Amino acid sequence: MSLDAYAAGAAYVDGRYMPVAQAAVPVTHFGWRRSDVTYDVVGVWEGSFFRLDDHLARFAASRAELRMTPDESDADLRAILHRVVALSGLRSAYVSMECLRGAPAPGQPRHPAFVRPYILAFAIPWVTLAPAEMMARGMHLMVSDTLRIPPESVEPRAKNFHWGDMTRAQFEALEAEADYAVLPDREGNVTEGPGFNVFSITDGVVATPVRGGLDGITRLSVMELCDELGLRLEVRAIPVEEFRAADEIFTCTTAGGIMPASRIDGRRMNNDRPGPISTRLLERFWEKRAEGWHATPVDYAAAEE
Ligand code: PLP
Repeated sequence: MSLDAYAAGAAYVDGRYMPVAQAAVPVTHFGWRRSDVTYDVVGVWEGSFFRLDDHLARFAASRAELRMTPDESDADLRAILHRVVALSGLRSAYVSMECLRGAPAPGQPRHPAFVRPYILAFAIPWVTLAPAEMMARGMHLMVSDTLRIPPESVEPRAKNFHWGDMTRAQFEALEAEADYAVLPDREGNVTEGPGFNVFSITDGVVATPVRGGLDGITRLSVMELCDELGLRLEVRAIPVEEFRAADEIFTCTTAGGIMPASRIDGRRMNNDRPGPISTRLLERFWEKRAEGWHATPVDYAAAEE
């Protein structure tokens, strides 16, 4: 197949490579019918993966949480990720790796333990949660009434598609004329939002929730940046009232990097613009990325294999 066929993206499904438009999950599979799937997303920017080892390690931990052991080793997975990006030829890409269960064979119990998990992966053009105009003005956030699914029910550290709470919260955000919702937990602390972690800054101290959300890789990068910039960082419960009254708020994710907010529940922060500490972190993040921070160059020759 010519590489042009992969221009919109390339995928790997259970042993086979194909253009992303051909990649599909059978409708009977538990991965689809039961969200019996875990995934991870790593970014490629200017021809290099960002923190590839961290994403592979988190994906391994997520699979362990869901008791999934696919045929592919971590070394295989690494090669698959290089190959899907190389096939697509993309220099900036959103690269997803997923492990899902199929369907029980006829006569087998309908229990996940009897169903083989398999890998799919794909690379598509870079995706961002915050388009340029939103980045410039700052995100408008709101705290939803919808609670984040508790870790006692679904472990948020294992990245998953149990997005019923996030989807419901996003419609609350729409009604409140906000861009995105931040979901609280039943103790009244903020957790995370649909696809991002959150940070608040009060009196120069940066804080991020200790539980209830994903251990984001971009969040980890922010922690490293706080250390470098000499900012005090606290990883602890953040009550909704504290979050609502913060001097600054920003969100962060692979699909967008560090994304400052300018409004929370309609309240304007920093004259309705991204705050100074958030902006400093954002600038340093991209400066370091340009210097090759945690970068792994994509092996574009893998397309030829
Ligand atoms: N929280 C949720 C629910 C997510 O889906 C994501 C990423 O997609 C994040 C947080 C941010 O994690 P990372 O920085 O590893 O992309």
